[in-house]
Amino acid sequence: MTKPLKNLEEIAVIGGGLAGLSAARQAARLGRLVTLFEGSGLYGGLVATIGEVDDLPFPGTWSGQDLAMHLYEQARKVGVRVVEWPVERITNGDRIELIDGSGTGYKPEAVIIATGGSLRKLGAPGEEEFAGRGVSHCATCDGGFYAGKHVVVIGGGDGAVHEALTLAKALSASGGKVTMVCRSPLSARREHIDKLDARDNVRFVWDSEVTAITGEGKVQAIATRDVKTGAASIIACDGVFPFIGIEPVNHFAPAALLGASGHVAAGADLLTADKRIFVAGAARSGFGGTGIEAMAEGVSAAEAAHRLLSGKL
Ligand SMILES: Cc1cc2nc3c(=O)[nH]c(=O)nc-3n(C[C@H](O)[C@H](O)[C@H](O)COP(=O)(O)OP(=O)(O)OC[C@H]3O[C@@H](n4cnc5c(N)ncnc54)[C@H](O)[C@@H]3O)c2cc1C
Repeated sequence: MTKPLKNLEEIAVIGGGLAGLSAARQAARLGRLVTLFEGSGLYGGLVATIGEVDDLPFPGTWSGQDLAMHLYEQARKVGVRVVEWPVERITNGDRIELIDGSGTGYKPEAVIIATGGSLRKLGAPGEEEFAGRGVSHCATCDGGFYAGKHVVVIGGGDGAVHEALTLAKALSASGGKVTMVCRSPLSARREHIDKLDARDNVRFVWDSEVTAITGEGKVQAIATRDVKTGAASIIACDGVFPFIGIEPVNHFAPAALLGASGHVAAGADLLTADKRIFVAGAARSGFGGTGIEAMAEGVSAAEAAHRLLSGKL
């Protein structure tokens, strides 16, 4: 049964990734009572497992964890209250009501949705069976297990290229190799593609999709299909790293706030169909994709929510 509603916050920020942490900190800096909800127990979301976050406009080298914990500490310093439960439901009637995973209810005046996304599944046989036994979503965590071996990265976007590069660097001293299996031309940024091209232990299999991951007790091969000719092939390998895109996390949001893609629909003003609810980062339709954009949108959403609560929006 749902517990009584508390009203300890003006602004609820849902999600402790780069967008949510930045939003919560900024809203608290503007003097608002802010509660941040993080459902996984791990701050940083999609970058939490990234060994080195690229394209940051400030000095130094940051792992995703270090960056997230820095933002987390900054947010705590300015008084952000943290609830380590996922938000299970938003109801937007006369008052907004949130219910978290413990069954506790909240009645914030404004909400910033910053729930980002999760890595899309391949949906191929073997993916679940070999999870943690050769199928991985973290080059930084698991690359070290493949010294001298052959791994496959599936995908062609920024995430796939970033992770292929991490693996190529980690495996090069031991003679390990990386094959990228791409269904369409690489869509990652040019500078990252150039870095990958410069590695001599990376090769590409174009116009192909993975139809199965196979092995006995551990990954030993993938089956592929040429999307133009239909030809089937087998590639022997020891590890598989799928990065084929990001799906929005939206099960808790009112359907009226979602666009056709399943993302929360909002334009550059970050305002959803409900003027008390904002969205920032990878949860938003039309999000640009980078960490700095997620942080910037978090700050902008906080500013907009503050203006709303000040009667200026
Ligand atoms: C493999 C890979 C590598 C990348 N490398 C780079 C890079 O080098 N540089 C760069 O700039 N960008 C990189 N990106 C992109 C970057 O990760 C994203 O732009 C950014 O992390 C999006 O942040 P976000 O806060 O919007 O979402 P997310 O990072 O997805 O964070 C969302 C958070 O919300 C939480 N959450 C979800 N649902 C709920 C709920 N119901 N209740 C409470 N909490 C919830 C999640 O647990 C998560 O912590 C990479 C992405 C990938 C996939």
